[in-house]
Amino acid sequence: MAKGDEVSKVLTHLESKHDRILAELIEFAAIPSVSTDPAHASDVDAAARWVADALSSAGPFSVRTIPTTGNPVVYAEWLGAPGKPTVLVYGHYDVQPPDPIGEWISPPFEPTVRDGNLYARGTADDKGQVFTVIAALEALKATRGSLPVNVRYLIEGEEETGSKGLTELLTREPDRTRAEAVLVTDVNIVAPGRPSVDAALRGIIHAEIHVRTLKADLHSGIYGGAAPNAIETLLQLLGKLKGDDGRIRIPGFYDRVKRPAAAELRAWRSLPVKEKGFREEAGAKGLNGEKQFSFLERVWSRPTLEVHGIVGGYTGAGSKTVIPAEATAKISLRLVPDQRATVSAAQLVKAVKRAAPKYADVKVSVYSMVDPAQTRLDSRAYRILDEAFREVWGRGIAPIRSGGSIPIVPLLQQRSEAVLLCGVGLPDDRLHAPNEKLTLDQIWKGIVLFGRFFELLAERDA
Ligand SMILES: [Zn+2]
Repeated sequence: MAKGDEVSKVLTHLESKHDRILAELIEFAAIPSVSTDPAHASDVDAAARWVADALSSAGPFSVRTIPTTGNPVVYAEWLGAPGKPTVLVYGHYDVQPPDPIGEWISPPFEPTVRDGNLYARGTADDKGQVFTVIAALEALKATRGSLPVNVRYLIEGEEETGSKGLTELLTREPDRTRAEAVLVTDVNIVAPGRPSVDAALRGIIHAEIHVRTLKADLHSGIYGGAAPNAIETLLQLLGKLKGDDGRIRIPGFYDRVKRPAAAELRAWRSLPVKEKGFREEAGAKGLNGEKQFSFLERVWSRPTLEVHGIVGGYTGAGSKTVIPAEATAKISLRLVPDQRATVSAAQLVKAVKRAAPKYADVKVSVYSMVDPAQTRLDSRAYRILDEAFREVWGRGIAPIRSGGSIPIVPLLQQRSEAVLLCGVGLPDDRLHAPNEKLTLDQIWKGIVLFGRFFELLAERDA
């Protein structure tokens, strides 16, 4: 069969199923499976059930919903193509909280189509992208009668909170990851029409710094000027961890930071992403950080320290003359190859203790850690994915990086030579932010692309 025929058969199948596929994705995205919020526990379970049902009806998979110490993992496999490669597809059905809700144009869990995009929390990260691969295999099954390659699916519900349950499961049962290639769709391409694969992800450490300076809040008239203010102490402490120049002041923190190779940096300069567009899309008047590095280097290959929220004092209506007794900051560190999360976390704790004034009780709680990852771009599966992109999208892969973190990738990378960090989302999908979307055209193009990738993997193997 000529290759064009296979693609057009999938396309014809898709055209006849457009409305149903979209309706299914809308149903999936409407489930508020916010994994960080215990109030959504039953929604998280509902999303796992939805994925299990979708896989059961998409193909010949045997599907299991495996309980973990956290949220369930949906595992599916079909190993009915002996002698053919096995692909492991990873994704997640949990989503970030939708806050701030007031900034959504349409409600976060009422998926809405506007201007060719599907808006809802979790459409790009990662429900829509998971669904794209499920739909690709369903289309292959429908048009060919069976699947060209062996397939395993691992769809988890704790990506946004550290993947603890999945990590434990895969440590206990390593065979579930046995595959020639691992496809991780939880990323976006660099620009519309420009396919890309991430050569690296940053790691992340989530921590909380808690400062107590007094037994209880005090009157700022009676005590002000002498009694230590917890919020001010916290701010001074944070100021000692990162300079105005963007450099993190944690001793030893940069020891293992590896600069990308000259060829990689050169390739980034020819990408269709420019600082001005990046700044405008961020909605910022100007950028900051380590100005001696390009903005792409800063977001892809430099570590960060970010303050996500500060709690303390009085923020209600009117005024209250109080010296707050305690304050807390939620922070994270993003890590790059070859930093190690356990090492960097210990350095953070030490630096905070050292910077803490004697009059304050300062506690650092590290509550999750993910190592950075660097993937190989010279595998057979990578070359075949590149071929699929050339054939279906008319353009090959640009290797880029992602500043984001996917907790399970370091483990998958230890198990497989070919972890392919490849999604169909776009840079302006607003992950983790209000008005998250996935562009519908990207979904259709993604279904055809992934379908062709699976076929080529089987054909090139023969
Ligand atoms: Zn994600």
